Amino acid sequence: MPDPIGLEALEQQIRHDLEIMAYPAQEWVLPCEGAPEPDILNCAIVGGGQYGMASAFSLARECVPDVRVFDGNPSGREGPWVTFARMDMLRTEKHMTNLDIGFPNLTFRAWYEAQFGRDAWDRMYRIPRVMWMDYLVWYRRILGLPVQNDSKVVDIAPVRDDLLRLTVERSGMEEHVLARTVIVSTGTEGLGPRAVPEQVATLPKELWAHSNEMIDMSGFAGRRIGILGSGASAYDAAISAVDAGAASAQICFRRADMPTQNPRRRMENSGYLAHFPELPDGHRWSYLQHLYSIGQGPPEPTFTKAMSYEKISLHPASPWKRIVLMPDASIRVDTGSTTFEFDYLILATGNRADLASRPELSSIVGDIATWGERYTPPPERADARLDGYPYLGRFGEFTEKEPGTAPWLKRVFNISRGADLSLGPLSSSSSNMKYALPRIVKGVTRQLFLDGADAMLDEIVTQTHDELTEDVIKSDAA
Ligand SMILES: Cc1cc2nc3c(=O)[nH]c(=O)nc-3n(C[C@H](O)[C@H](O)[C@H](O)COP(=O)(O)OP(=O)(O)OC[C@H]3O[C@@H](n4cnc5c(N)ncnc54)[C@H](O)[C@@H]3O)c2cc1C
Repeated sequence: MPDPIGLEALEQQIRHDLEIMAYPAQEWVLPCEGAPEPDILNCAIVGGGQYGMASAFSLARECVPDVRVFDGNPSGREGPWVTFARMDMLRTEKHMTNLDIGFPNLTFRAWYEAQFGRDAWDRMYRIPRVMWMDYLVWYRRILGLPVQNDSKVVDIAPVRDDLLRLTVERSGMEEHVLARTVIVSTGTEGLGPRAVPEQVATLPKELWAHSNEMIDMSGFAGRRIGILGSGASAYDAAISAVDAGAASAQICFRRADMPTQNPRRRMENSGYLAHFPELPDGHRWSYLQHLYSIGQGPPEPTFTKAMSYEKISLHPASPWKRIVLMPDASIRVDTGSTTFEFDYLILATGNRADLASRPELSSIVGDIATWGERYTPPPERADARLDGYPYLGRFGEFTEKEPGTAPWLKRVFNISRGADLSLGPLSSSSSNMKYALPRIVKGVTRQLFLDGADAMLDEIVTQTHDELTEDVIKSDAA
């Protein structure tokens, strides 16, 4: 076989693979009984990033028709990769498998090798960020996934116990879509609002940004940039700022030392990835709390690159205690021990767990149980940062605050960052899709199957299912 084989040859192989692995290819989902409208989705997927797309593909493999994915962003700009992510390469190991759902020819590696050859793959350290987006675009095209872009879901509301109505904003118009199940795959932002210190929020917006925003750095030349946070995004922002011409980028964080430990890597094994959701509440809470407490620093290449820039400096034990806007529009930041002068602030402070801030959940958030309501940790483990996480069921479904009052919630599955406490700290990232995705998909197909329980029993028991016809029996007996 030539190396590289080229994308066309790979795509041919994929079509063949899909055909070989089509069993069981029988349609089975029964229509929604007493449906108020003819067009009802079996599953609506909110978010067309990698999770949303892989969910749509998985459901197609399970012979679930009438699935649609909605994404607020334009085509090719889903997820963080070419919007607000700034790193050179992914943080995850290049060998991860995820969106392929078990088809080797659909992996990033197959896509890469088909174009650049095996040696190039061996030489690659980690997956270049922009190339990951190229792969996602190809994945969507080759599989013909039903993604509707520029379509922001602004509401999910119950219509009946077995039906939900989505309100979708598209080109300034509102459309309504009925769905029997919903997967909410809204990524990092799906956890809740961006964490912005109050004193920063009162500054004029042109003087600061959160790292999850697209930041126009074209005016950064000669400016002093203050960055708050100790994670990878802080370093990515600092590197980008200096590349854009900033005079300095000073990374400040509260911790006395920078985080150097990353037990998440130890948890990238099939034990944790597959079975974390089965752990008792106390264990799950303790894991997340520990991970939150120790933080997560940048990956080694990011750190090394940042430290090779003279204009980037690190300031541990530097909480921003007092922030004052000066008459010359500079910002004075007092840490208690040092005073900095900045021209622009970037907050690499992540998101807070608070579903109430998510517009698409506003109609149902009042019914959704959170960890704070379901689990009381021992006093020494109390942690307000975790209280707002949704308490998900074992298929990633939202659960009811008051049992019996919101039965439609078991049809809404959450695999955004908000799933991390229930399903595992890596559940919403690439490295756990291999295990978390089948869980969610099983939740959806299980629900659709149970919806048809009476009709399916009736069909099997009361209808004929000929295998040996009268003619065959007579002719064989003769
Ligand atoms: C800077 C950064 C770097 C990261 N690097 C890595 C990494 O190297 N490896 C890794 O495994 N993970 C990484 N992650 C985590 C990463 O976000 C996930 O792995 C991955 O993007 C999750 O995919 P997703 O489909 O769940 O969410 P996303 O890729 O974030 O996609 C969510 C989509 O939902 C859409 N959306 C949100 N709300 C709505 C709505 N109401 N209506 C319609 N559409 C909506 C958004 O437009 C977006 O396209 C990183 C995250 C960030 C922020």
